[in-house]
Amino acid sequence: MVNALLLIVFAVAFAFAGLGHNDRRYWTFLVASNVIFAAAFVFFARHINGTPEALLLPNCLLVIGLGLRWRAVRTFFGHNSSSAWFLALGLFVALALLLSPLLGRGLIFGLTNGVIAAQILAIIISIILEREQLPSRWGLVFAYGAVAASSLLRVVQGLFLDRGMDNLLPADIFLDLNLIAATIHISASGAFSLSLAYERSVASLRETALRDPLTGLYNRWSIQDLPELIKRAGAPKEAALVLLDIDHFKAVNDNHGHAAGDQAIKRCAQLIRRVFQKDDLIARIGGEEFIILLPGKNIRHASRLAETLRKAIEDEPMLFQGKDIRLTASFGISHGSLNAHSFTHLLEKADACLYQAKNAGRNRIVVDPERTA
Ligand code: GH3
Ligand code: MG
Ligand code: MG
Repeated sequence: MVNALLLIVFAVAFAFAGLGHNDRRYWTFLVASNVIFAAAFVFFARHINGTPEALLLPNCLLVIGLGLRWRAVRTFFGHNSSSAWFLALGLFVALALLLSPLLGRGLIFGLTNGVIAAQILAIIISIILEREQLPSRWGLVFAYGAVAASSLLRVVQGLFLDRGMDNLLPADIFLDLNLIAATIHISASGAFSLSLAYERSVASLRETALRDPLTGLYNRWSIQDLPELIKRAGAPKEAALVLLDIDHFKAVNDNHGHAAGDQAIKRCAQLIRRVFQKDDLIARIGGEEFIILLPGKNIRHASRLAETLRKAIEDEPMLFQGKDIRLTASFGISHGSLNAHSFTHLLEKADACLYQAKNAGRNRIVVDPERTA
């Protein structure tokens, strides 16, 4: 009964969490599974030493509730899932329980718990194989692991200890373990389902705050988070830094309008993405100014890619409202040791080179002479 109450409390919490979310299906599956589990627990409590027929309904409810939990997990991680297989499993369990006079109580008991354990293991495997790195998923694995272990114990009990079972029930140590595992599962899976969603919201807010909405590249504020970004890139000791600025960009705005300017910025971002690799950190740090940080790369490598990009910007005019708009860009490149402190120095050196490139007539690359690796 305590378990049923806990389930209802969490169902209410899930319903509230679902109200403020666009991820309604996930919360709906969780609420539905909790209500079904609660009903199962009420029936179990009423028929604690009941006949297999009396236990038919709560066991089927457990199978269906677990199926909904499976759908919740799949939905949360963006996969499709179907209800067909767990409805079939529910039917199978119902049939097995009805046939229990024929097959023997122990076997049916083991079989029913085997189905339940298999469902839980499927949920655990699905969570473990997921690529999205949310720490709370390990809490969920623990929560499901606790009931999986106790269900597997019930399988062993059913298949190997069935002779003594009638005497044991209901004051049965396995039942006690089962109820404790259920309490742990209900509280832990409830708490971790909520915190999983919270972790994802925080991660997505953080990602949004770091991104430039026009190009989808990192924005200038993300530069302040550089130590974190460097860590993600594998913490190399040195890096090359490419700074580029579109030439006479004001003229694009003045002659063709602000929308053309925006498209030129997007076009430039697209070409940068094409030329550089995913591991390189690309950010738009000003109106039409971009930096590309190449962790672990030397200045020759950076210059070669910058030249490819410079030529692409020059040679591939942007089409805007039926007109070809020609763009060029100037580049400054620096190279040096990489940490949060030296990064500012790297950026200053690249900026000085960019300034020289502009003064020397634009559409060119100037490399910092201080370090030429
Ligand atoms: P230079 O060759 O010396 O770089 O000349 P420029 O005209 O490109 O340089 P300047 O820095 O003087 O002009 C940048 C212009 O970019 C000024 C501003 O109106 C425009 N700008 C800044 N952000 C945006 C934006 O998001 N969209 C558009 N369309 N224009 C922008
Ligand atoms: Mg410019
Ligand atoms: Mg500029």
